[in-house]
Amino acid sequence: MTQEIITFKDLGFSPEIQQAIDELGFEEPSPIQVQGIPPLLAGHDVIGQAQTGTGKTAAFGVPMLEYLDPDNDEVQAIVLTPTRELCIQVTQALRTYAEHLDIEIVAVFGGAPIKSQQAQLRSGAHVVVATVGRMKDLISRRSLVLTAARFVVLDEADEMLDLGFLEDVEKILRMCPSGRQTALFSATMPPPIKRLAESHMYDPVTISITPKKLTVDAIRQAYVEVPSRGKTDKLIEILKAEDPEQAILFVRTKIGASRLERDLKNRGLDVKALHGDLSQGVRDGVMIAFKGHRVKLLVATDIAARGLDIDHVTHIINYDLPNSSEIYVHRIGRTGRAGRTGRAITFITPEQRKDLLQIEKDASTTITAWESPEERIEHAPPPRRRRRSGHDPVPLDDDSDDDSEAADSKAADSKAGDSKAGDSTAADRGEADRGDDEVREAPDGIAKLFVNRGNRSGITEDDLRWALREGAVLKDDQITSVRVLDRFSFVEIDAGQAERAVEFLDGSKLKGSEIRVEVARR
Ligand code: ADP
Ligand code: MG
Repeated sequence: MTQEIITFKDLGFSPEIQQAIDELGFEEPSPIQVQGIPPLLAGHDVIGQAQTGTGKTAAFGVPMLEYLDPDNDEVQAIVLTPTRELCIQVTQALRTYAEHLDIEIVAVFGGAPIKSQQAQLRSGAHVVVATVGRMKDLISRRSLVLTAARFVVLDEADEMLDLGFLEDVEKILRMCPSGRQTALFSATMPPPIKRLAESHMYDPVTISITPKKLTVDAIRQAYVEVPSRGKTDKLIEILKAEDPEQAILFVRTKIGASRLERDLKNRGLDVKALHGDLSQGVRDGVMIAFKGHRVKLLVATDIAARGLDIDHVTHIINYDLPNSSEIYVHRIGRTGRAGRTGRAITFITPEQRKDLLQIEKDASTTITAWESPEERIEHAPPPRRRRRSGHDPVPLDDDSDDDSEAADSKAADSKAGDSKAGDSTAADRGEADRGDDEVREAPDGIAKLFVNRGNRSGITEDDLRWALREGAVLKDDQITSVRVLDRFSFVEIDAGQAERAVEFLDGSKLKGSEIRVEVARR
């Protein structure tokens, strides 16, 4: 029934909210929004299971804002969040959605003076976004009354469970009116969360958005096999080779996080750590610095980083292999957001090979051995015969790409050697190298790239420009021209960026098609 709704217009928001959405540049609702907003607007309880970055805040936030009465000064809605960072993030998002409404949204969280939060509550709050502990505290000090809180949201519920907050959550729920509407969002649904929903929600509509395969597909995944002892050196080598714009380095423990931060700092790298042992103030500082692009590398534990909306991360490095495939998908989902290409590199010890295979299987994805950029160029796809003729290329058979994807998939020996489609031969590599030299020698500093897709795959000039900007981090003035033909395209860019563009875009997906990008003969 809700399947047909695809635009925001169909969801029928009030003009003020629609205006805010337009100003944010949201073009269409995300799947969790498509499925979650109508039942919430209709007054149902909703359980939404979806990964980070799927747009849950607007999914509950907009129906909540539609429900509120600005003339009623009571607290009409609460949002419970597990951590201070999420509390702030949700508050900021809700405020942007409420930009043109007369609604007060107050954030209350631990680690900040309670007095000023009490003052804010006194001066009127329609919505309170809170961490569990601070909300409990404010209730017991009678600074917060929930008798009119008829719209209740539990955001990232499974993380509340991880942090041991569930009992307090239940206490808070019991203080809200029994006729309330409750929305629960969670990335996973462990039994205690299910039980919580069963005992505190009324006939909920359950929505589960399975992680889009696409999300992982847009991410180029590699692994590095190295014994524990050699890890830091290898990491330094990889960071040098990859030169990420921004990277998150995941580690398993808090101690591991501080140790890695220290080691990288000692090597002169620009790094900060985010983990549960840090004071809230420090964590905030780290987040602000990282989001403001003032720090290149963030070392983080899963708990500290979960749920945070950090976009534009070019690289995810699993310095420690995650414990489960689910966490793997969760972690690497922080790169390649919204169709951008990203890169994920996972460290394994020789004993962890089988765990890696399991992740590949569970996430139905392919993780290839990491290669330095030089190695990658050697393994570039074969140049087409057209190169010798100097004429415009004879397009490749479209099908060949799809085949190579299948052939590429899980074969054990594809891991050991070839990282790209299995269609590259030793003879080809020599030519690919020559192609690369030509770029460097290009007299006018412009390199021409060949892309094996065009109109026929639904690719437009804007798509390619977008991919160059977002995927290869090129600036507009580094893109000289983009020409889309029927079955392939040509792109002219600054020669200095060619290697990077090929590296980031070759093998990535655009409009659902895998694209091959290579340097074309001028
Ligand atoms: P989640 O809570 O599921 O992790 P968020 O609500 O934090 O996701 O949203 C993630 C990002 O996606 C935010 O930057 C948000 O502004 C953006 N976003 C949300 N909905 C849309 C949409 N419909 N179109 C484009 N971007 C969106
Ligand atoms: Mg969220």
